Amino acid sequence: MNIAGNLLIGESVRRGTNGVSYALDAASGERLEPGFGGATMADVDAACALAWSAFDRFRETSLEARAEFLETIAANILAIGDALIERCVAESGLPRARIEGERARTVGQLRMFAGVVRAGDFLEVRLDPAQPERKPMPRVDLRLRHIGLGPVVVFGASNFPLAFSVAGGDTASALAAGCPVIVKAHAAHPGTSELVGMAVRKAVKDCGMPEGTFSLLFGSGREIGQGLVRDPRIKAVGFTGSRHAGTELMAIAAARPEPVPVYAEMSSINPVLLFPHALEQRAETIAQAFVQSLTLGAGQFCTNPGLILAVEGPALDRFVAAASEALARMPAATMLTPGIHRAFDAAVAKFEEHAQVQTVARAQPAAGANDGQGALFSTSAAAFRENTALQEEIFGAASLIVRCPDLPAMLALIESLEGQLTAALQIDEADYAAVRSFLPALERRVGRVLVNGFGTGVEVAHAMVHGGPYPSTADGRSTSVGSLAIRRFLRPVSYQDMPEALLPEALKTANPWKINRLFDGHVELAQRA
Ligand code: NAP
Repeated sequence: MNIAGNLLIGESVRRGTNGVSYALDAASGERLEPGFGGATMADVDAACALAWSAFDRFRETSLEARAEFLETIAANILAIGDALIERCVAESGLPRARIEGERARTVGQLRMFAGVVRAGDFLEVRLDPAQPERKPMPRVDLRLRHIGLGPVVVFGASNFPLAFSVAGGDTASALAAGCPVIVKAHAAHPGTSELVGMAVRKAVKDCGMPEGTFSLLFGSGREIGQGLVRDPRIKAVGFTGSRHAGTELMAIAAARPEPVPVYAEMSSINPVLLFPHALEQRAETIAQAFVQSLTLGAGQFCTNPGLILAVEGPALDRFVAAASEALARMPAATMLTPGIHRAFDAAVAKFEEHAQVQTVARAQPAAGANDGQGALFSTSAAAFRENTALQEEIFGAASLIVRCPDLPAMLALIESLEGQLTAALQIDEADYAAVRSFLPALERRVGRVLVNGFGTGVEVAHAMVHGGPYPSTADGRSTSVGSLAIRRFLRPVSYQDMPEALLPEALKTANPWKINRLFDGHVELAQRA
């Protein structure tokens, strides 16, 4: 499969006429061929019109047909073979093993959602049968199912060129929900985007899905991205990126005549809490694991551990010494784009120059132009409380250790934090009583509380929450990873006294799709062969 630099608008593969842009080799900075033609507002209109015309047919496809469609996308991505891996490594600067792992995750997510669709539980079918004899008033027949929201715009993420881009988690969950998807490709990896886009387009054809089920556009976020979010036919948005862009998209979507939800994953510093007994027992081991997590993928993870909270004393000094030593041995690593690298260097420089922040360690100096050099800082609890700028995410391998006078001060800092994706607790059994007193505050602040690990390496599973209160995400009621991600793109519809012949298959009394349902308030498990 060749990369041609074309837009994919439904079935049509066409050259964009709104300027030309190129991918860069992340490590060398060299321009990669070919040029990508940017989309015009007419292309936005065409993709939205197709998506809207596909919506009613696509959302009523059978569960089996939609599941097969998702599995076909997965198979088509694998069929691209090495060309996808090579292009993705060049565009992202991420190691080959990471990209191979990310492809496996992407394919795994699509297959997981195929399973979710087949099971049908996501429809959350409820039947409250009529009670004509009920006194004083008869009860009507009520049936409920969930339907897709409508066409969804997905912004590809720079830091997950496969698993959170063209056919990543947002796209897979939206398609599973029955929503056509238009992807605004990330400029950092357009070649990867086109290859995956062609695989999705082929699956649309292979499986006989309506033409507008999928489109892929290249172009600027401000023009094409905002144009898509403003279009009245778009009913939801999936985004991963900066807080600045995410909040701007939230404002645009909220100001529309018909406001729509934006599921934006934006910024998080993911506190790590070192409890006293664990720190005393394992300061050096925790420090090693922390530095591994901090520097993984050049630190370009939304779950990167950007904040360490601990009570000052000799055990914390041991941790700082061991972490400093481990970080000092770490090579600098290629970052995703020159812009992200510049932002990292600027944010690190601000911390270095801050009067109340000490630089405790740096990784090895940069060898390549786009290399990020890891950094570890330390400050006091009082300084952290006074300077809200110290709470801002540094996207890359940088972390701040906050020395707290005691556990109540550490708890008070948790209360002062913005919403976060994760909190990681390093604990031993002797810490349980203290941990118990922290849990209510942690539950209010974060989407995932994890023990004796670090937030990086998010498991794609049914009980995963990759979300959290603002600003970690736009809507803390949701997750963007795991099977629950489908909920973001669904809404309930109730049918009152609808004749059996007019009911959708999912709601028919005989349960032809064999879906588990809530019947008159009781769980009724389907009899499956
Ligand atoms: P970004 O600048 O937010 O861009 C993400 C996407 O949004 C791109 O497609 C971009 O399009 C578009 N966009 C940017 N500004 C926009 C606007 N005002 N209106 C509409 N669309 C807009 O993020 P990035 O390029 O991936 O990285 C930049 C910074 O974002 C990083 O340094 C980091 O701070 C943060 N980031 C955070 C996470 C996380 O998970 N927490 C992940 C990735 C990035 P164009 O640029 O093509 O116009």
